[in-house]
Amino acid sequence: MYHHIKKLMYTVKVGTPDPRFGNMLLEQFGGANGELAAAMQYSIQGLNCDDPERKDLLMDIGTEELSHLEVVGSLARMHLKPLKFGRDAAEIDPLIAIAGGGGVNLFNSMGDAWTADYLKITGELDVDLRSNIAAEARAKIVYERLISFSDDPGTIETLQFLMTREITHMKAFTAALESMGKNPFSIGKIAPTPVLVDQYFNDSTGIGDEGETDARGPWNEGGDWKIVDSPALEQGVENLKDDGELHQQAVGEARKSGIRKAAGGKAKLRKSA
Ligand code: MN
Ligand code: MN
Repeated sequence: MYHHIKKLMYTVKVGTPDPRFGNMLLEQFGGANGELAAAMQYSIQGLNCDDPERKDLLMDIGTEELSHLEVVGSLARMHLKPLKFGRDAAEIDPLIAIAGGGGVNLFNSMGDAWTADYLKITGELDVDLRSNIAAEARAKIVYERLISFSDDPGTIETLQFLMTREITHMKAFTAALESMGKNPFSIGKIAPTPVLVDQYFNDSTGIGDEGETDARGPWNEGGDWKIVDSPALEQGVENLKDDGELHQQAVGEARKSGIRKAAGGKAKLRKSA
């Protein structure tokens, strides 16, 4: 159940309206990493969540994002208001001036309509939490760039508040993921194929114009890593050839969880249709 209180989560003050900046702010209103996307992503994930504790987290933060939408929308509206009255200002964004009457609408800074395609909702809690951590990092960096393009103290204060909350959320989602106690590379039920999973393919080779060469680091050396020539080269293909048995082993393990049975049932349905 939602309830609206006639009070902003953070009081918005704007000195001199800046319609061009208001237009950029729409990125956080109706854009891919904006507040509506965050609110919808977490709230819908919460609806799908069977873990009551983490469902509470998703609903808490999803609801806070709706309050952020209200704050950033109010801020954008203050900056966009001149579009309502002045021809010069109106030319900055005819979509807002002519179709929207100087008000905010669910578009990004380029006038692209908001879309549910922005949302990452998989129904697998740990996978969703990872998406949320990344979403918060993107929202943070967008706010930081907006701050760097404003010199209005009131605007900067509001954006600093919103930016800070995204780091708060990032911390909460990270802690929630860690508290699940899952091996970070154990996603879903079917195990990856042994040997293959530890092979790092050196798929980009040669020396680039800026002197780029093959880099080594913890992403391809140490631990279980084995660096392998590109599968496009003969040696790499040899390495890939005889994985059949290993693949079968990995998938066979998943039988215990019933996942293969479910897949078999689906195949049968398709055949009879
Ligand atoms: Mn937010
Ligand atoms: Mn957030």
